[in-house]
Amino acid sequence: MSLLSLLAALDDGSTSARAATENALDRAARHADLNALITIAADAARAAGDAADAERARGARGALLGVPFAHKDVFCTRDILSTAGSKMLANFVPPYSATIHDKLQAAGAVLIGKANMDEFAMGSSNEHSHFGAVRNPWDRSRVPGGSSGGSAALVAARVVPFATASDTGGSIRQPAALCGVTGIKPTYGRVSRYGMIAYASSLDQAGVIATSAHDAAIALNVIAGFDPRDPTSVDAPPIDIDGALAMSLAGLRIGRPRQWCGAGIDAGVANAIDAALAVYAAHGARIVDVDLPSSEHAIAAYYVIAPAEASSNLARFDGVRYGHRCANPKDLADLYTRSREEGFGHEVQKRILTGTYVLSAGYYDAYYHRALKVRRLIAEDFARVFNDVDVIAGPTSPSVAFKLGEKLADPVAMYLADINTVSVNLAGLPALSIPCGFSDGLPVGLQLCAPWWQESRLIGAAHAFQQVTDWHRAVPGGAA
Ligand code: GLN
Repeated sequence: MSLLSLLAALDDGSTSARAATENALDRAARHADLNALITIAADAARAAGDAADAERARGARGALLGVPFAHKDVFCTRDILSTAGSKMLANFVPPYSATIHDKLQAAGAVLIGKANMDEFAMGSSNEHSHFGAVRNPWDRSRVPGGSSGGSAALVAARVVPFATASDTGGSIRQPAALCGVTGIKPTYGRVSRYGMIAYASSLDQAGVIATSAHDAAIALNVIAGFDPRDPTSVDAPPIDIDGALAMSLAGLRIGRPRQWCGAGIDAGVANAIDAALAVYAAHGARIVDVDLPSSEHAIAAYYVIAPAEASSNLARFDGVRYGHRCANPKDLADLYTRSREEGFGHEVQKRILTGTYVLSAGYYDAYYHRALKVRRLIAEDFARVFNDVDVIAGPTSPSVAFKLGEKLADPVAMYLADINTVSVNLAGLPALSIPCGFSDGLPVGLQLCAPWWQESRLIGAAHAFQQVTDWHRAVPGGAA
């Protein structure tokens, strides 16, 4: 069931929160081969389902009262294992919860488990998890995308109606695209990062994956809002969902960046995007070609800035206070180095080394400082284009889901999976991905991006598309 239809069924009493919870747990077990969950919190979920039913019986109606969901395992949940997909945190049971978890609990949502992810959210295929790769529900020999691959796979397999996720360079939108579901990365600052295990703090943003834009908007409004515990969170008005649902496509100006549609985009993906834009045009939108010239340098700038911040953020994992500690350290230096060597996987170590290098005194100006200048140029490109258009549209990912193992030996090929998503994070903009067709039987995602704080415009444009198309209703063969 979609989130909306489940809420309706809970409201009219045709189902209970406990039944919805059992159903989610049951489906999680049936889809265990996806490897999408690191932790299943079955007992706590059943108790939360019962509590939601009791509250409903008393007449309460929380925004998500009784709705099962999963968290990407990057969010700290008090008394529940929170690993960030890493051996470093494979034993970490946090004494506190992320703000978004507190908000979801206050709204009555029922946590069924913690979703698998690339280690510390570094990756585009979910193959860099200490807990093993996640499989794509549409084809189990393929990746679900990353780093929020577990969240996207769970929603695609209809285990839960929504899941939380985080996006530093595409990790909500790219797996949503590869799994045929809807994922939204809000404006930087809309959602608190408190209790979200940090990767690259100037880029990280929490969001949600659901089966429709309307569902995603409902869940997003629950987790959004100012939080004094995150100094980068902003006191922005909530998303105007009613306004978004009423939005007309007539006259909407859609910019199609030439740089998002050029070489490197698979023909099957390009065709599905063209067909989706034709649907928009048929409903009165105006499609115009636009240029984002600096985006050609986005991958290079991102893979300097994100590792630089990661090298600093991950310095806290030293084997002393929490997380993995090596056995029998000889001395303090041995404790630090061996705990980190054993606790971090290969991709994470590579990023820490890269980040340390670009921040070093001799190379700071040549790499890190330069990347910051490119970042500014990228943001200015977007600002200029948004003088003329309301949203920007193009493929979320250059290809459909690729085979497990296909890009593991070629990190640059893996990084290029993010070619159309990273520039959005560098500029702090909101963007979403919606299913818009298939290529070789695998889902294709359309990315829409809007100016800062214009999530309602994004939701409106996505919802209008989902009113006249059925791509978001397609379910993978094994999901039923
Ligand atoms: N794939 C990108 C990376 O590896 C983005 C990941 C993310 O958004 N967390 O950094």
